[in-house]
Amino acid sequence: MSKNKSSESVKVVVRCRPLNRKDESNGPAGCIVQMDLRLGQVILRNPRAPASEPQKTFTFDAVYDANSKQGDLYDESVRPLIDSVLAGFNGTIFAYGQTGTGKTYTMQGAWMDPEKRGVIPNAFDHIFTHISRSQSDKQYLVRASYLEIYLEEVLDLLDPNHGNARALELRESPESGVYVRDLTSCVCKSIKEIEEVMNVGNQARAVAATDMNEHSSRSHALFLITVECSQPGPDGRKHIRVGRLNLVDLAGSERQAKSGVQGERLKEAAKINLSLSALGNVISALADGRSGHVPYRDSKLTRLLQDSLGGNAKTVMVATLGPAPQHYDETLTTLRYANRAKNIQNQPRVNEDPKDALLREFQMEIARLRAQLNHRKWRTKQKKEQVDGEGWERDGDEETEGEEDEEEGVEKDAEEYVKLEEQRLEREKQDIREDQFMLAEEKQRLLGEKEKMMGVLRKEQEATEQLTAKYKAMESKLLVGGKNIIDHTNEQQKMLEGKRHEIAEQTRSEREIQQQMLVRDDETVELRETFTSLQQEVEAKTKKLKKLYAKLQCIKAEIQDVNDEHVRSRQELEQTQNELTRELKFKYLIIENFIPPEEKNKIMNRLTFDPEEDQWKFQPLVPAERSVKSSSQMKKRPASAVGYKRPISQYARVAIAMGAHSRYRAENIMFLELDMTPPNSASLDRSAESEPNQSHSLDNSPTKDRRVRKSRSWCQTPKSITSSSSNVSLAACHTATPMTAQ
Ligand code: ADP
Ligand code: MG
Repeated sequence: MSKNKSSESVKVVVRCRPLNRKDESNGPAGCIVQMDLRLGQVILRNPRAPASEPQKTFTFDAVYDANSKQGDLYDESVRPLIDSVLAGFNGTIFAYGQTGTGKTYTMQGAWMDPEKRGVIPNAFDHIFTHISRSQSDKQYLVRASYLEIYLEEVLDLLDPNHGNARALELRESPESGVYVRDLTSCVCKSIKEIEEVMNVGNQARAVAATDMNEHSSRSHALFLITVECSQPGPDGRKHIRVGRLNLVDLAGSERQAKSGVQGERLKEAAKINLSLSALGNVISALADGRSGHVPYRDSKLTRLLQDSLGGNAKTVMVATLGPAPQHYDETLTTLRYANRAKNIQNQPRVNEDPKDALLREFQMEIARLRAQLNHRKWRTKQKKEQVDGEGWERDGDEETEGEEDEEEGVEKDAEEYVKLEEQRLEREKQDIREDQFMLAEEKQRLLGEKEKMMGVLRKEQEATEQLTAKYKAMESKLLVGGKNIIDHTNEQQKMLEGKRHEIAEQTRSEREIQQQMLVRDDETVELRETFTSLQQEVEAKTKKLKKLYAKLQCIKAEIQDVNDEHVRSRQELEQTQNELTRELKFKYLIIENFIPPEEKNKIMNRLTFDPEEDQWKFQPLVPAERSVKSSSQMKKRPASAVGYKRPISQYARVAIAMGAHSRYRAENIMFLELDMTPPNSASLDRSAESEPNQSHSLDNSPTKDRRVRKSRSWCQTPKSITSSSSNVSLAACHTATPMTAQ
């Protein structure tokens, strides 16, 4: 793996959406966000502060105001990153901001309108256009996965039964960093296919939204694209570069107090805020640079973005803002996070020849299939040679043809051979049928044999066809560059894009220079100043003092803001903690009062904490290595219990066979049958007509007698008594009914 030690900072761009009708109707009019596109600055006005209070200014890599186009943001800020991914770097783009500020709009946009297509569809176009224009010695494999993090669980959006799917586990490997185990990954051959994958995932999200009454922005969505590229190196061997692109649409940050959510929604909001504050903590820890520990493990989101923040990746963060005055606090928080994220340093490097490259596997599989096909071809030729000598010569000519015709040749050969063989077998069958000297039995046998041979032949042909189809399918998944390179329009388009790219690059460097100049201006002005008189010096110094005083005020206000923010977030955390404590008490109540202590202890003894997954887990009842061996033993019933509910002694078995119940024999307990007679009541005699059944059964059944007869000792044989007693009552009932009816 080649290492590029140079580090680069996370690129942060800010985008402000236009005012919408809701903003206008809900609060005081006006926009609190101003943007200086040339300098890349955002100027924020506090609507509650007096006009004299200085406005807050933040500087970023680029800013996009309400009139900005999707294409501008893509060309200037995203295109270079996707180019890096195509060159084998890891890349991440994530949108961060308050709910409803345009994260989804920026990442996805309106698919149908080319002007409004967001980062993700533009990236699809970019990747596949790049592949079609690259040199023909390059082979590409593009894969896509789509997942969401909902309530701190990673769910696969491409899983057909997404609704009932199990949460996926996160794993870490030194080779590919943090990854999701068993995540569906679709190989995509065209823009259409990858768009299809995206739509399938989006639908899974939408369905979840209606079924569970869950708003889509309540989950973080990650679309992952892996681009593997194989190219012959100077050493003649094929080298593979793997670029991984994460496109992240985060759930919106929201204040619990403001959104007024309760119950389930509050829990969701708490989880969203938890992962977003974990993200904030990671950003702070990385930007700070002093604290060694970065709390990546605090949430699934930060673990998945581990490489993107401070690791092996190039990252662009798009912070989205709303311009409405009523969201001043959130806008300020977003800007602060974004400002801090600028200081994060990543160490991107090209992923060259990683062990887990799927492209390598594909190439090997294709080579294997090709070898198999060639082997079959060779075998067919051999057989053909045996069948007739002439064909061999013609095959010999075909041998010299180009490689591309090889598969076609194989198919033709196989078909021809099968045809010839079939004809031959048919002829032989005919001969057998016509042979008058042969016995009928012999004929049948020979015909059967020929039939069998034909079956084998057909099976072989089918196998060859399947193999060829598999080979072609595998090969079609690999995209080869250089197909459109001769296309003149494409050439022109390529040049146009190149120019656009250059312009974007220039604008960026211009902005950078201007930002630097602004910083240096302040420093150099005072150096150049020479004072002619004391009075002038005093004036200049007073001016400077004023300037510094204003700066001091700014910083004081900033400190106050940060303190307020801390108090607010602490209050929220306390509220969440109270909620959780209440729930915990409820669970304790159930455990203490309804679960027997010994059962509880059994469960407690089996629980272990898995630090890898940050979860409590049950230990298996039987140790893993023994379970395979002993499973058959454990499940097997003892020989003495075959056919019975429990192991039983020989004596008891004989006793049962004899008809005596042996269970309580030693205790000398009497066995009493249940009294099944209907209730006895004198008053019922009067209502004989209305309830004939009952009165007759009373008349006919000698209840007392039966009761006496039913009690028995173990010395008696039980059969006669039980059967007779039940017979009596049943017979009584049956005979009684017709009698009353008369
Ligand atoms: P989020 O994902 O941050 O919750 P959305 O992307 O769903 O927010 O945006 C909310 C609404 O604002 C959508 O109707 C979207 O069309 C609109 N919107 C957001 N950003 C812009 C923009 N830059 N230009 C025009 N409309 C926008
Ligand atoms: Mg959204």
